[in-house]
Amino acid sequence: MINAFLSKYKTSQLVAVSALLVSLSFSTHAYQADMSEPLVQAPSTSAASAVTTPNIVSAKKVALDGLSNPRSFVILQYHHVSTETPRSTSVSPQELEQHMAYLAEYHTVISLEAAINGLTSKIPFPERAVVITFDDGYKNILENGHPILTKYGFEYTIFINPAQIGILGSQLSWNEVKQMSKEGVTFANHTLDHLHLLDRYPQESKANWLARIKQNINLAEGSLSQQLGYSKKWLAYPYGEFDVDIKAMLKDMGYIGFGQHSGGVGELSNMQSLPRYPAAGRFASLDTLLTKINSLAMPVTQVIPHRYVMAIGDVIGEIRVDVLLDDISFNRIACYFGGDSLPITKTEKGFSIDIDSPFYAGRTRVNCTAPSVRQSGRFYWYSIPFFTPQENGRYLN
Ligand SMILES: [Zn+2]
Repeated sequence: MINAFLSKYKTSQLVAVSALLVSLSFSTHAYQADMSEPLVQAPSTSAASAVTTPNIVSAKKVALDGLSNPRSFVILQYHHVSTETPRSTSVSPQELEQHMAYLAEYHTVISLEAAINGLTSKIPFPERAVVITFDDGYKNILENGHPILTKYGFEYTIFINPAQIGILGSQLSWNEVKQMSKEGVTFANHTLDHLHLLDRYPQESKANWLARIKQNINLAEGSLSQQLGYSKKWLAYPYGEFDVDIKAMLKDMGYIGFGQHSGGVGELSNMQSLPRYPAAGRFASLDTLLTKINSLAMPVTQVIPHRYVMAIGDVIGEIRVDVLLDDISFNRIACYFGGDSLPITKTEKGFSIDIDSPFYAGRTRVNCTAPSVRQSGRFYWYSIPFFTPQENGRYLN
């Protein structure tokens, strides 16, 4: 499956090996897997499935009818590949095999590096490009997932927590990480120890908080660089949580940031909050997943207000979404929040929605989809995540 497009982008980005030693005195609280889904769940598939009930046959038709979209791709996010781990963050080996067989037939899997380089280059993307990522560095990725991905020749990226590699029994060892790296797997930063980046210590100033998490990210990157000889500066936010300050800091640090909210990635995507589609648990079904795999990046130019962190009881009210509407079927824009379909109001530069229900603790998101006018059967997809701490200020796992 490695095509000419990929080899064009093969780079030997060997970054000077950092001598940073990673402190292993990370927090000792029990490690918990990501809740890859919001606690308050917007029905992320219903918007699309209300319009079409996709299946593999219709996807094939789409593949034949669809026009090229040279600057849009999709990132899938996995955690466990096992039947013995929490369902919400797991796919079975059989499900992963099914996903990969579908991708091999109808899509082009490219590395995250090729996808990111492609966003800024003049060379068109391959048709329906898809990037495969895993979070958390579980051993079952090597045991159950790696053989499947290797069989298809798919390159992929694993975001790991260096302070937990080889320490927790569920995690890969550094030797395994190095071996997989030699076999084409790219490893990147998921923070040192999987902390909630938004959590602040009592009385911690904003400056001290940002300095603390900056150090955590730098230590993790230093460890990756020391162990593997490269430093991609890609950060997958633990629990998908970030805010405008973290994004600004990451941008200054030269990082690209990846969330756990839905949507296609395109030229207008913000590079510090790139969306990924969770593909585990109840989202593992290929019937619903393939609508997402075939989705397009909604060309959103601005969202007002621009905020992610809400307090319990806050009501956000109107959200204005400025978007390039050329190829969007306006009358079929659908937005959902917490199970509710939101009325769409046309504005001068796009549309607005109104959310009058109060936030409560957890992660939630607005999901908006709209059919493409020119590409029959394909949907533009955009998601705005929100993060609400508990009364005590701490964020839920
Ligand atoms: Zn994680």
